[in-house]
Amino acid sequence: MGKLIVFEGTDGSGKSTQFSLLTERLRSMGKEFRTMVFPQYSEPSSSLIRMYLGGEFGTQPSDVNAYAASTFYAVDRFASYRKVWKQYYEEGGIMLSDRYTTSNAVHQASKVSEAERAAFFRWLYDFEYQKMELPRPDLVIYLDVPTELTGQLMRKREEQTNTGADIHEQHLDYLRLCRQTGLEAAEHYGWTIVHCAEEGKMRSIEDIHKEIFALVMAVLEEE
Ligand code: ADP
Repeated sequence: MGKLIVFEGTDGSGKSTQFSLLTERLRSMGKEFRTMVFPQYSEPSSSLIRMYLGGEFGTQPSDVNAYAASTFYAVDRFASYRKVWKQYYEEGGIMLSDRYTTSNAVHQASKVSEAERAAFFRWLYDFEYQKMELPRPDLVIYLDVPTELTGQLMRKREEQTNTGADIHEQHLDYLRLCRQTGLEAAEHYGWTIVHCAEEGKMRSIEDIHKEIFALVMAVLEEE
């Protein structure tokens, strides 16, 4: 078997930024690996996700419960694994993934009550890794950012990309909930948390990258 390394965090936590920095660095070292990003919106396997996000099952996120919504994202990963990377991985290939099963733990678990969360976490890993036989990650890097800073970063990104969407207070409440659920998931599953802020300020992109690079190299060098 190969290695599977996953980047996880709430929206705006810096995943894409860190993912690109890491892949550029590994490439410049001549490492052989493949990358993937979930969900795969351009693939037919994401049809149910697109119907769900398009409001075809109801306009409120709570209209589709955490278990049903999780299955939509799981089948998208199943298709990708079976069609694209199973053989490469089984022959020892290294896969780097921006989001994975872990995203259901961050985003869907926030829909279940706190009392049910541990049961949901157990169900999710059992469903994807045991029942669907998807590979289990060797390392999950969870980027943790205080919600106030995530809001600022997302505003900045929107200015840079001219998308101009507003980050409403309601959106910040949702991010706050996802951050809390993400940290609970990280503790439950033993993910590696990278604290991206210090004393109320973001650490530099390069500083966070150094920490991530060391974590990834340690896993790649394990036999
Ligand atoms: P994600 O992929 O998790 O949604 P991004 O990588 O797109 O997050 O980052 C969101 C925004 O924050 C981008 O504009 C990015 O340039 C900026 N950013 C990322 N990491 C940092 C950091 N450590 N300090 C300051 N800005 C950052």
